[in-house]
Amino acid sequence: MTGSPLVPEYWRSQGVEQVLIDEASIARRVRELGLQLSVELGRDQDVVLIAVLTGAIVFAADLMRAIPTRVAISMVSVSSYGASTTSQGAVLASTLPHNLAGKHVIIVDEVLDSGGTLRLLRAELGRLGVASLRACVLLRKQREPALSTPCEMVGFDIPDVFVVGYGLDFNDEFRNMPFVGVLGPEGIEAGSIR
Ligand code: 5GP
Ligand code: MG
Repeated sequence: MTGSPLVPEYWRSQGVEQVLIDEASIARRVRELGLQLSVELGRDQDVVLIAVLTGAIVFAADLMRAIPTRVAISMVSVSSYGASTTSQGAVLASTLPHNLAGKHVIIVDEVLDSGGTLRLLRAELGRLGVASLRACVLLRKQREPALSTPCEMVGFDIPDVFVVGYGLDFNDEFRNMPFVGVLGPEGIEAGSIR
């Protein structure tokens, strides 16, 4: 998280108040995470990346290309009931990938907030005889219970604010914004009225 670049005019007009993590900083950190994973896992392992839909698609797409060896890609859908800007209980909304026994599994998620998503997936995947299980999140909120939720790899620790961009949405929009930004009250209000 370097400096505080200006919010591009268009995104500012949509209620984004601050660039929290710019594109270059994200790219640098994603490369580091990919290299760290490939060093830890070595060359000759069966590795499966499981991206949590929908928010992790952007991060997972970049992270997988930062890993220089073969990996399988899978997705799971977890829904947190309760819309808007707070997350609540997590429930599995898709089946889990098959044939994970003996594989090195990496859960890829965009943000660790309440920890419900990771706790649920860890419990479910832990029953499937995997060789190892890691969680890799791009962002972790600096609050409890996020900080005490087990998570092996964290891209950035961020303040407890509502962020959008790089996969993170508000009402399914903003996922395509290429940086992580803070959505102010005006943006939140405009989005919930539409
Ligand atoms: P959990 O609370 O299970 O750790 O995170 C669940 C989900 O809450 C995340 O995958 C994400 O969809 C949503 N979430 C939590 N904090 C934020 C945030 O700051 N911005 C956005 N857009 N989504 C968030
Ligand atoms: Mg999500």
